[in-house]
Parts: sequence; C-alpha cells; structure tokens
Amino acid sequence: MTEPLLALRHVSRHYRTQGGTVRALDDVSLNVAHGQTLGLVGESGCGKSTVARVAMRLTDVDAGEIRLDGEDITTRQGRALDDIRPRVQMVFQDPAASLNPRATIGKTLEAPLIVHRRGNAAARRERVAAMLDKVGLHRDMAHRLPHELSGGQRQRVAIARALMLDPELIVCDEAVSALDVSVRAQVLNLLLDLRETLGIAYLFISHDLAVVRHMSDHIAVMYLGQVVEQGPRDAVWHSPRHPYTRALMASAPSARPGARRLQQASIAGELPSPLSPPSGCRFHTRCPHATAQCRELAPVFTERGVDHWVACHLA
Ligand code: SF4
Repeated sequence: MTEPLLALRHVSRHYRTQGGTVRALDDVSLNVAHGQTLGLVGESGCGKSTVARVAMRLTDVDAGEIRLDGEDITTRQGRALDDIRPRVQMVFQDPAASLNPRATIGKTLEAPLIVHRRGNAAARRERVAAMLDKVGLHRDMAHRLPHELSGGQRQRVAIARALMLDPELIVCDEAVSALDVSVRAQVLNLLLDLRETLGIAYLFISHDLAVVRHMSDHIAVMYLGQVVEQGPRDAVWHSPRHPYTRALMASAPSARPGARRLQQASIAGELPSPLSPPSGCRFHTRCPHATAQCRELAPVFTERGVDHWVACHLA
C-alpha cells in the first residue's frame, strides 16, 4: 500500500492557559494522499488551524506522530526540520497580512529561494517571472508593492510564494475566505489547475462546505478537537453518517462554491468549551440521538464503509 504524503496518527495538542488546559486536538488521525486534496471542515474553534500548524511543524505535539511520505518527522528540530520545510508550504487567509508591505512582489517571491540557497540571482529572477506566469499575473508585477494589487492578485502572489520551492503539499488555511465571491472562484480554479499540472497535494481547511466539496477528493469533519468523520468526498457528502456531519450538510445544501456558508445557528446549542469538553461523545450535548451510552463512553473511530470512518455509537 502506498504511504500517504502526510499522515497524522493519534495526534494530541493541549495548550496550558490561565483558564486551564485547552484541548485543541485530541487523538486526531488523518491522511493526505499524494497529489490529492483533503478538505477539513468544522465550526470555528474546532481545531482546524491547529491541524494546519501541526502539519507545518509550527507547533510540537503532546502525543502522536506526524509522518511525511512515510518518514516520522514528529520530533525533527534544527537543520533536520529545515530540510523538510520546502516540501510543505502554506497559504494563509489574509494575503494582505501575510505579505511584507515594504517588499516588492519580486523580493517576496525570491526570499524563499535565497533562504534555501536555490540558484544565482539571474536564475532566481527567471524563476520569479515564470512563477508569476504560472499564477496568471503579469511579470511586471514583480516591481509592485502589495498595496498596489487587488485582494485576488495578492492571494495569487501568496500562492506563487508557496510554490517557489516546489512543495509536495500546500496547507491552505481558509485561503479564499477573505476574497470576493467572483475572485474566489478564480483562485479556486487556479489551485485546481496547479494541482493538475504540478501534482501537488492540498490540505484544504475551510468552514465553507461548498468550497470544500468543490476542491476535495476526501473530506474530514472536525468537532471540538477531534475528527468525527472522514472519507471519500462523495460518500461523506451524499451519505454522511455522523449526526454532526449531517447537521453541517443540512446547513449547506448547495455545491456551488461560496453559495452558502456554514450557519453555526443551524446546529442546536453552543459549541462547548475546549477547556472542559463533554464526557463520552463530545457531541452528545447537541446531538438529537444522544443516549446514556453516548454521555459516558467515547465512540471509537471505526471504518463503516470503504475508507469511510466515523466516530459514533449509532453510525
Ligand atoms: Fe450522537 Fe451518540 Fe453518535 Fe455522539 S455517539 S454523535 S451523541 S449518537
């Protein structure tokens, strides 16, 4: 069996705060296959962005394992960590905040090549120009500053920067959420084209289910620091088995990107605090099917269909 490009195995990440311990991730396992997209959805505060930071090795984990193409990278530090940085890159939500306002686009795109000692000055300039072509921007943009560009153009620059080191995986954390609807569709199609031509994989994190459906081969659903359902896109979309996934789907009936966003109010009750998650199944305080067993016993993440995994006693 081929190893996934990225695998998280039973990963937990807790943060100690003045108010107590925030259990941002608890026993999370997921796979991103080579050249494919895993869409990661869930309400704000469910732990999606912590998954992104773990995948990027921007934060250490308290338990579990991170594997990149079969290799355990969980505890890599220093130069050993620097060696794998080019292979996993990230595109953030807000391109205005993620680009240096005082650096020209050319300098911004050249920076990763300098840090990782790739090519001489002429080769780097040519690489910058070629990458601007690739993301649909004019080569003259290299001389502009970020504030001279539109939001969509800035996000194309952020994508180009992520591509400069030929990564195998790009983590997109709400990468199109800040864009206008019309621009969003263009950027999503650019990401799909790049995946097709370059063979890169995406961990695509979004609260917008329709966008995730448009982009993904597989979908993982998170609730309060745990993955509750994961499987092939159509299986999860057409036959969701976890009550939380079903509630999310009910709030996003359209498959058109951006057509309708997740409505938090469509799921009964408040999202409990990750400082003190409910006992048993963490969704039991909001689940219409909860039983006494659900309140006491945490369901095991179990394969219920072909590569379709669910954590629910009644799935
Ligand atoms: Fe609902 Fe029980 Fe399933 Fe949790 S385990 S989702 S509470 S039915």
